[in-house]
This record gives sequence, C-alpha cells and structure tokens, in this order.
Amino acid sequence: MTAEEAAAADAVIDLDADENSCPACMGTIPRGSPSCPDCGLRLF
Ligand SMILES: [Zn+2]
Repeated sequence: MTAEEAAAADAVIDLDADENSCPACMGTIPRGSPSCPDCGLRLF
C-alpha cells in the first residue's frame, strides 16, 4: 500500500466514528465491526 492509498483509507475508515462507509460498496459499517455486513469486505 502506498502512502496515498493509506491516506485514502484513513479518510474512509474512521475508527472513532459511530459508523463507517464501506469503500467497496458504500454500505454502512457499524462501529467495531471487522468487516462490511453488506459485501463482507474485511477492514482489519
Ligand atoms: Zn461493503
């Protein structure tokens, strides 16, 4: 992963937010969830 990609991921995944948007399907990922419930993308 390049620094630019890491920065982009940071912008999408905010661990302090109540919810996050999946970078793959733009679905809502609840706080603390290790993966997207909609498409299964693993975040951690
Ligand atoms: Zn997803």
